[in-house]
Amino acid sequence: VSGLLITNARAVTLAGPPGARRGRAGMNDLGVVPRADILVMGQRIVDVVPVGARSRSRTIPPGVRIIDAEGRVVMPGFVDPHTHALWAGDRLDEWDAKRAGTPYLDILKAGGGIMSTVRAVRAATDAQLAAGLASRLATMLASGTTTVEIKSGYGLSPEHELRMLRLIAAAAREGGQLWPTVIATALLGHALDPDDPTLVERTITDTLPRVTREFPRIAVDAFCEDGAWSLADCVRLFDAARRAGHPIRVHTDQFTTKGMTDWAVEHAAASVDHLEASSRETLARVAASSTVACLLPCTGFHTDGRYADGRAIIDGGGAVAIATNCNPGSSPCSSMPMAIALAVRKNGLSPAEAIVGATRNAAALLGLGDRGGLEPGARADLLILRHENERELAHEFGASPVDAVVLGGRVALG
Ligand SMILES: [Zn+2]
Repeated sequence: VSGLLITNARAVTLAGPPGARRGRAGMNDLGVVPRADILVMGQRIVDVVPVGARSRSRTIPPGVRIIDAEGRVVMPGFVDPHTHALWAGDRLDEWDAKRAGTPYLDILKAGGGIMSTVRAVRAATDAQLAAGLASRLATMLASGTTTVEIKSGYGLSPEHELRMLRLIAAAAREGGQLWPTVIATALLGHALDPDDPTLVERTITDTLPRVTREFPRIAVDAFCEDGAWSLADCVRLFDAARRAGHPIRVHTDQFTTKGMTDWAVEHAAASVDHLEASSRETLARVAASSTVACLLPCTGFHTDGRYADGRAIIDGGGAVAIATNCNPGSSPCSSMPMAIALAVRKNGLSPAEAIVGATRNAAALLGLGDRGGLEPGARADLLILRHENERELAHEFGASPVDAVVLGGRVALG
């Protein structure tokens, strides 16, 4: 078994009881050990102790590689809990139209937006799709993402949704060795196909049962919005998915409120994502629930300058995660440091809250209890930053803060 000792680290451990952190007190406790030794054996963290607290000659096995962090921050790798990173084509012409003043919902109605990426994905070969994804996963790793959730949703038809999920599963088999651990989500209710009026019905009666057979317990997601899936259709999909044992996630309250967020919270959804248009009352219900609020500030930055009120959710005692929402239309960004920088400026989070949202809470919402903190037994996915203070993560933006990435105990970068 190979070993690694990182010494003289400012360790941001996020140690504590399992599960998502909530509220102002819970989300501001980073469990910092100012000068720490972090010992890794194989794929796991053995312990994090103050420098000098152990006799090295007695307890460090021979052959362990030693890295001197020289006071730099060492923290858990980022967990990006919401992306659409498997796609083909580009939406550059659409971006030109948007900048010329065409509203997004009009572009959707004209068959652009998500449908243009659906057409590109259907036309691409498996090899083209896999190569694009591999390139994006390498970019994510370089900015510190060690676990990433990837949604289907650009296939729509049963055949193409299953094809997307199989391609994501293929990337997941390499994940944790070559690139971040990949977690798949079945985004079955993403768009309406103007050429297929039976799509909603087919999704519920055909696609979903096939997904259940091939990917049992995978999270099922939908986009509840004008021009996308209605509240009634989302509820039908989610009722069927819940009966089949799938956790539920939903894109909700991005532009308009449909009542989806309240329904999702009442039905113990794993997460409600977006929330830019949510009312105060709805945010209070999210805050009081077990559902994690997943904020996507890169989308507001790229599209329309609207951001979810993360401050209200945390002050109400809720659990917040943040994600890039990486996709070719509304959020061409795969950088979790950028999402952190924006969450602090635009969602009202403190730097510590944004770090918790990008690590422990993101892992919790994906159902991963073995990462998101530097604790004995945790998977050894960790970062050495350029910085000596973790608040720099939020303060600086636009360049990667990462000096080194350890992926499952192996130095993957740096
Ligand atoms: Zn999304």
